[in-house]
Amino acid sequence: MSSGADEFSFFEVVQGYMEEAAELTGLPAHVRRILAEPKNELIVHFPVRMDGGETRLFKGYRIQHNNVMGPYKGGMRYHEQVSLNELKALATQMTWKCALLGVPFGGGKGGVKFNPREHSHEELQRITRRFTHALGSNIGPSHDIPAPDMGTNAQTMVWMMDTYINTGPTYEKNDHRAVVTGKTINAGGSEGREAATGQGVVHCIKEWAREARFDLEGATAIVQGFGNVGSNTALLLSKLGVSTIATGDHTGYHRNDEGFNAHKLQDYVRVNGSIDGYPRGDKITRDEFFETKADLFIPAALQNQVGEKEAVRLDVRLIAEGANGPINPAGGAVLADRGIPVIPDILANSGGVTVSYYEWVQNRNSEHWDAEEVQRRLLHMMRRAYQRTMFYAAEKKVNARIAAYALALESLATSYEERGIFP
Ligand code: GLU
Repeated sequence: MSSGADEFSFFEVVQGYMEEAAELTGLPAHVRRILAEPKNELIVHFPVRMDGGETRLFKGYRIQHNNVMGPYKGGMRYHEQVSLNELKALATQMTWKCALLGVPFGGGKGGVKFNPREHSHEELQRITRRFTHALGSNIGPSHDIPAPDMGTNAQTMVWMMDTYINTGPTYEKNDHRAVVTGKTINAGGSEGREAATGQGVVHCIKEWAREARFDLEGATAIVQGFGNVGSNTALLLSKLGVSTIATGDHTGYHRNDEGFNAHKLQDYVRVNGSIDGYPRGDKITRDEFFETKADLFIPAALQNQVGEKEAVRLDVRLIAEGANGPINPAGGAVLADRGIPVIPDILANSGGVTVSYYEWVQNRNSEHWDAEEVQRRLLHMMRRAYQRTMFYAAEKKVNARIAAYALALESLATSYEERGIFP
């Protein structure tokens, strides 16, 4: 999946939004300086034995951006393009996400630079366990709590948890389940966590539709990326009567004017690893995908996918950012000119970390909430964050992204003001 434009440094883009929001909120200069850089940037190199007997050295990262609101929190990404710059941007976004939603966590992000598709189940297990071991006490249930992200899933989290538990003291075993979230239900995961990011995207779309008096039944969507976020968003949208008429991933793009059966396509991707070869639908080019007329566009793949070129082509009423940073500033400017509203990433995709928080609370209290309880709480928190963001945007006459950043900054600034700077 080639990107929209390559000249953007993701971290600088995120810093730029913060600067804009900081101006708006009159953020004290010292808080601005603190938040402009992550607190800790850890890089580890670790050897792993491959199935064929040879040993490969891997590069892993964990970036801890800020913990003034609570333990560092954020996903672990397995991807061949993982870089320090990208993870710094993503860790920073986690700080804003948690602050905006009122989730008592800070921001972190990590990953390993490799292509997980090229490895067997056993190799993935050994890579994950050695990576967790290399991170050692830099992660922990009260300190830094990883979760799934691109290229990782519930199984990855269970391996991480098991490794962490088995390298720590025996008497803390059960407390240590909360070292990661996004686990399988059996290993202490939460109901609703797997689909939570998609569910949050859909809650935002529903709020928008209610306010815009737009009937979602019979509407159409195009979805970029059909992994956890894209597929669950498409599936939940289909239950509201929205058809996904075009989608794509790293293998290419497909269109089906009748709408894809999101459930079947999700199953196909689970088995085959991508949408490549799915029998229903026609192959289209990346440009044709962006030109497909639809009501909704959900970018749910990598960052920096929508630049000027794509933004000019898009023929949609609303964009909800399932991915982190999918629209670059040049693309954003075109969309603003064209009057296409964007529900920004730190709001739209925050359902994942919100249910991660519920998982962590359940683990710490040895509880298991039923699915209704999780859904009720998620809906309440997403709605509140959506309303606050849109109200602020209208009041200050800024776009929703800057409003979301500004609200997050305001709560971070209050924390710094109350606590002061040590010593
Ligand atoms: N990786 C997800 C995100 O970018 C989830 C993070 C989490 O649950 O901690 O928001």
